[in-house]
Amino acid sequence: MQRSNQDQGSTRGAWSTSDRPHWSYSQVSQFLRCPLQYYFDRVVKLPKPFISSGLALGSVVHQTLAEVHRSIQRGRVLELDQVRACLLQAWGDMENRQPIQFRDDEGGPKLVEQATALLELYVKEPVPECVVAVEEPLLVPLFNSRGEALEMPLLAIPDLITRDAGELTVREFKTSGRRFGELEAEASLQASCYAHAVQDRYDEQPRVRYTVLVKTKTPQIQHLETVRNDADVTRLGDIVQAVERAIKAEAFYPVESQMNCSGCAFFKPCRQWQGCPRREANSQQARNQGALARC
Ligand code: SF4
Repeated sequence: MQRSNQDQGSTRGAWSTSDRPHWSYSQVSQFLRCPLQYYFDRVVKLPKPFISSGLALGSVVHQTLAEVHRSIQRGRVLELDQVRACLLQAWGDMENRQPIQFRDDEGGPKLVEQATALLELYVKEPVPECVVAVEEPLLVPLFNSRGEALEMPLLAIPDLITRDAGELTVREFKTSGRRFGELEAEASLQASCYAHAVQDRYDEQPRVRYTVLVKTKTPQIQHLETVRNDADVTRLGDIVQAVERAIKAEAFYPVESQMNCSGCAFFKPCRQWQGCPRREANSQQARNQGALARC
């Protein structure tokens, strides 16, 4: 389908976030990172026996930040002890929901301490002038570089949208063991997803700002800014379309690396994988579930 002049502009109100099939950044990035992990997670839908401590910490920090920002949106800045209470609540819920896999030198109390230190640092930062939205779901169309619409739209849920000094900004928060390089923001597919979704929703090109909560011995906060143009957005469409073709072709293969595999919940079924095609998914699923049950 070609993108007509009429739909070059905003599609506000034309899409809803109902159960319509969609793409998400996490889905696309998971496939690009390791197609076999995507297969176990989203095709065969194997249960995850645990969540890694890094993901658990990132998730509770995000939940707490969302509470901090919602409160600012309502005109009230949370006190430090209220922020800590939100964090403890989120951590307790996380521990009750699923097993957490810690590294040897870690444990729940140490992670909570680390998350608290990061959040304490963040709440000392200047408060946004105007919070426009917190975790707003945005369902928007995707187009490739030939102007053709992709079958499925993109669902983006940016952490925070603000307006400071009149400038619309999408803000994303990361927890990381190291500082990000400049190129990571410049080349980020996530930035393209969110910039596109926010521009479609608000009819205005936003800046994208990454706030990295760095889990070094002395916690740090790093800010990186980037912008996206039309070429970046259509490149996003091209990438998603290529991923779509690879999934349809059942091109699921492992990408083994320290960064990918440490903390991967599918490590055991991955070692047992023998390159099966998708039509064997059901029997493979049964075998893998048996293998997981024995883990
Ligand atoms: S263990 Fe590594 S290669 Fe295997 S599925 Fe997980 S991330 Fe991919």
